[in-house]
Amino acid sequence: MEEEYGLYINGKWVASKGRESFTTLNPYNGEVLAVFPKATREDVDAAAQSALSGFKRWREVPPPMRGELILKAALNLEKRKEELSRLISLENGKVIAEARGEVQEAIDFFKYIAGEGRRLFGETTPSELPSKFNMTVRLPKGPAALITPWNFPVSIPSWKIGAALISGCSVVLKPASDTPLCAARFVEIIEEAGFPTGTINLITGTGAEAGTLLIDHPAIRAVSFTGGVSTGREVYAQGAKRLIQVHLELGGKNPLIVMDDANIDLAVEGTLFGAFGTAGQRCTATSRLLVHRDIYHELTDKLISRVEKFRIGNPLDENIDMGPVINRRAKDTILSYIASGVDEGGNLLTGGHALEGGEYSKGNFIEPTIIETRHGTRISLEEIFGPVLSVIKFSDFNEAIRIANDVQYGLSSSIYTRDINRAFAAISLLETGITYINAPTIGAEIHLPFGGVKNTGTGGREAGSTAIEEFTELKSVFIDYSDRLQKAQIDTASRFKELLT
Ligand code: NAD
Repeated sequence: MEEEYGLYINGKWVASKGRESFTTLNPYNGEVLAVFPKATREDVDAAAQSALSGFKRWREVPPPMRGELILKAALNLEKRKEELSRLISLENGKVIAEARGEVQEAIDFFKYIAGEGRRLFGETTPSELPSKFNMTVRLPKGPAALITPWNFPVSIPSWKIGAALISGCSVVLKPASDTPLCAARFVEIIEEAGFPTGTINLITGTGAEAGTLLIDHPAIRAVSFTGGVSTGREVYAQGAKRLIQVHLELGGKNPLIVMDDANIDLAVEGTLFGAFGTAGQRCTATSRLLVHRDIYHELTDKLISRVEKFRIGNPLDENIDMGPVINRRAKDTILSYIASGVDEGGNLLTGGHALEGGEYSKGNFIEPTIIETRHGTRISLEEIFGPVLSVIKFSDFNEAIRIANDVQYGLSSSIYTRDINRAFAAISLLETGITYINAPTIGAEIHLPFGGVKNTGTGGREAGSTAIEEFTELKSVFIDYSDRLQKAQIDTASRFKELLT
């Protein structure tokens, strides 16, 4: 019998006030892993009220002490890294080595952001008036709604929770319905650090119901959302009605450019990892390979022969290169993209089909697929979010940059070249929030800001020292110790005169 979960509100797992529930499945074999409630309006209200009372206590905790608890949570995660990693492979389907990497990312981020408790810097500035001192301080926004996708079911919640908590915000996490078990276990583990009751809350249910109710709740003062562009637009519009800040991290259509002077073997390795890591289900996945015509055949031949040796199967098996995609719907969408690529004149270089029968009969498996296409087709422009790589030939650097930029997204980009001038030119010309030189489009490090431009989001950044900006307000403070009324702009000239005479 699969385990039945409740909602995490006021420091306890509680039953939903409603009766509706949903199951979470193993994408490898379709097995039911657990049952979760669909939060009702009453449940969402209880979670938001809990976050409001948690916030009133948590904001009073000095930031270095908040950091101590976050560090303790990081150490708890370290102790249970293997257990959590295995759960990610089981529920999300990414191979175990990548799942371990994901948990490590959460540990690293918690350790990093814990230290921010001793910084949370403001500014001090001179005043235009004598005996007066000016500064800015950072204050928490309030209870935050965190809405997350399934593809990084632990590390994305960790980025949002870590940054919110160090800033003094309490949180209500609403994870994706494909991976609530990872989110629940993550919350259980970090809660053992001893955060005050109500600081961390978790609700489950559909985005359209639970997510919407949460964003609309008057106690919620900030929304941090990661997911697809169309959902992001809805969430943004909904937040706008309440005039609350909404931070959006959305999709990508990330190009990897290989110039004619590149180390081709290195570019092949990078492309394999970038395009087929997490079965292509990363916002930063390499989904377009732009190759200089002079090395086109050498590179694609090498790539195809490597992809055809990929071992596909149970993500918990250490020898597997690629696991299943998340669910049946995703599998159908990816297959329809492949079909549209072929319909639009694309040349299927390898893969292109679902894997069925035997070990694959109950899972959501697709062959790693490479399609030669031209810029402008659907598969060259739209986010596929699966193991499908579109390859496009170009003639010179300027054409490569033009194609790379001619999409609605702007998350990650990469160029392989040994020419330092071109590498630096690409850094300024590529319209993305992240650029890699001689490395694939995936593989961010947590102490650098993460986010994109154009339709990839609203321009903010997660991770790095900038992560706190999402969850804090700057307050400008003016301290007058002159013991008389001094009017800025109005008295400034006379005070200046006084001081000079
Ligand atoms: P999704 O947009 O379908 O769902 C994301 C979350 O939003 C889920 O928790 C879902 O339940 C919730 N949701 C859905 N409708 C909602 C609504 N109307 N109101 C409030 N919440 C709602 O995305 P997904 O399929 O879970 O994830 C894949 C997408 O996420 C891809 O586009 C990928 O590129 C993107 N992504 C972006 C980043 C990044 O940092 N830029 C990272 C990972 C994933």
